[in-house]
Amino acid sequence: MTESKDCERLLHSLGEYVEGELSEDLCAEIERHLLECHNCQVVVNTLRKTIELYHEEKEQDVMPPEVSRRLYMRLNLEDYLRP
Ligand SMILES: [Zn+2]
Repeated sequence: MTESKDCERLLHSLGEYVEGELSEDLCAEIERHLLECHNCQVVVNTLRKTIELYHEEKEQDVMPPEVSRRLYMRLNLEDYLRP
């Protein structure tokens, strides 16, 4: 299953992707993957909503790394990849 292997690898970059901190190359790779992977689409949508909420609440432009790390842990992103 090369597909889920891709998911695992990209999953760790999705947070940075949503925050717009990823290199162009990786962004393109993720976008290509998102087109055919529903799991990762769900993860990205969830992350986007969560981050938007956070920004609205705190009125901050940048999420401190510590906060986003805790956020992603709480979301249990790996769960999305389990059948
Ligand atoms: Zn995927």
